[in-house]
Amino acid sequence: MDRILVSGAGGFIGSHLVKRLKAEGNWVRGVDLKYPPFRKTQADDFVIGDLRDPRICTKVTDQPFDEVYQLAADMGGAGFVFSGENDADIMHNSALINLNMIEASYKAGVKKIFYSSSACIYPEYNQRDPDNPRCSEDSVYPAAPDSEYGWEKLFSEHLYLAFMRNYGINVRLARFHNIFGPEGSWNDGREKAPAAFCRKVAETPDGGEIEMWGDGFQTRSFLYIDECLEGVRRLMKSDFIGPVNIGSEEMVSINKLAEIIMDIAGKKLSIKHIPGPLGVRGRNSDNRLIEEKLGWKPTAPLVEGLKETYHWIEKVVAADKKQEAKRN
Ligand code: NAD
Repeated sequence: MDRILVSGAGGFIGSHLVKRLKAEGNWVRGVDLKYPPFRKTQADDFVIGDLRDPRICTKVTDQPFDEVYQLAADMGGAGFVFSGENDADIMHNSALINLNMIEASYKAGVKKIFYSSSACIYPEYNQRDPDNPRCSEDSVYPAAPDSEYGWEKLFSEHLYLAFMRNYGINVRLARFHNIFGPEGSWNDGREKAPAAFCRKVAETPDGGEIEMWGDGFQTRSFLYIDECLEGVRRLMKSDFIGPVNIGSEEMVSINKLAEIIMDIAGKKLSIKHIPGPLGVRGRNSDNRLIEEKLGWKPTAPLVEGLKETYHWIEKVVAADKKQEAKRN
């Protein structure tokens, strides 16, 4: 049984990770600004605290944990990250969290720390062709992320690697590509495309219309939460430091994503394309390195994960409607 700290344990990936680590028999402490909103945490100990405050980071690393998973960040989907309105907070808050967490972890004698970087670090100039984006791990320089979120992630990758080089703390780095699944943001302004379209489709009667930012020909790949966690656990157990992509290679257009969700729901809706924050034109995970280093890569079809996600969002949308009706 390992003793493990998950920072960002109230968030989407963190709350699922805690569940998995508990199922594997570990002792887990979580820390976050908030408890997981959709189900009771399974952590043995959960600290509510602001990791921008170094004293909180020292408090939660009061022992030489076997593993720390640093997932806390001020982040969200395109509406949050690409609108430009949250740039200062994204950079300032997430950088502070990482500066404090790596220092506190090293001082506490933590044996291994995982950091969740992002596909958003990859240069914009390699992601203009929606059919042929280039996102191999070594394509990151010359650096030109298209968001401040990406720049902060790139800075923090360097920060963790510098602590490993200078202070010997064992680090693992992964670059997540659009992780999705049940029990994540779906209507709070931080939701990402899969959850946003599941919600729109669930809320709209058959034959109706939903809105989509852009022309829908922009491409992305989406990785289901269970496979993301499988990749993270395998990376932590391996000797490979990273950074490595953890993502799906099943690239689809956003129009296609919406169509798959409509099929799952059994609805035919028309799409109204409107201007909005978009990000790069095309992006896909390149899984050659993960396969080479870990002998594993994600393989589950997108539609399977979308079914789970849609059915969960359908339920929360219905519950939300019921509550609203009660209030009125
Ligand atoms: P999330 O927003 O659901 O979780 C992040 C958590 O960090 C939230 O619960 C939030 O309350 C917490 N947090 C923010 N500021 C904090 C602070 N000052 N002190 C304590 N806690 C704080 O996001 P997620 O999807 O679970 O992402 C987890 C990590 O993975 C993040 O670092 C994110 O950047 C990275 N990532 C996620 C994706 C994705 O598709 N979900 C893709 C690339 C990278």
